[in-house]
Amino acid sequence: MNIVILLGAPGSGKGTIAARLAGENENLKHISSGDLLRGAVAKGTPAGLEAKGYMEKGALVPDALIAQMITDVIAETQGDVTMLLDGFPRNVAQAEILEKTGVPIRSVVLVDVPDAIIADRIAGRRTCPKCKAGYHVTALPPKVEGVCDKCGEKLVIRKDDNPDTVKDRLVVYHRETEPLIKFYEQRGLLRRIDGDQGPEKNAAAFKAVM
Ligand code: AMP
Repeated sequence: MNIVILLGAPGSGKGTIAARLAGENENLKHISSGDLLRGAVAKGTPAGLEAKGYMEKGALVPDALIAQMITDVIAETQGDVTMLLDGFPRNVAQAEILEKTGVPIRSVVLVDVPDAIIADRIAGRRTCPKCKAGYHVTALPPKVEGVCDKCGEKLVIRKDDNPDTVKDRLVVYHRETEPLIKFYEQRGLLRRIDGDQGPEKNAAAFKAVM
């Protein structure tokens, strides 16, 4: 078992890349911290109740809360699996918790997209609340407007995908998450891809460096 970390701003396409690769290869497992948290919120678990307010504001949830969820998933995962960690770690404290699990990190791939493009990307983002598939109204539209290709569920706009919260999430990204670029560069693990090539080329570029 090993880990590939996807680093990048909200809306950079990390989730789309990870879902695509995991769909092609059964040894790759996509783990999205945001999906884990949204699942906990929907179920109303104690962790979900604690996380909800932070998420609606676009703030990070407490490190211990999300780290526990991720280490639980790692503990449940067995066999010859590469975990594609999407959204975790989000700061240096979380990266240190991850190191302590002792699971080898194969690479950390920065999906690079300028802030100016992010706002437009997120404005067009649609998500399946059931199977978590992600779409974009123009760049990656579903076959039938508003309906998930994979499971037929009605697509939704995430609550935190509104322009004000997106601005806050980008501020948090630059302040809390960007220091991880240096952190992983120092460990010789960082790779970069241009995340503005369209879904297919982004995924191919990722695969080539991961
Ligand atoms: P995402 O789906 O990755 O954009 O995450 C949605 C929201 O979940 C974020 O804006 C945070 O509020 C929360 N979240 C996701 N991952 C983490 C993390 N590693 N640490 C803290 N909060 C997180």
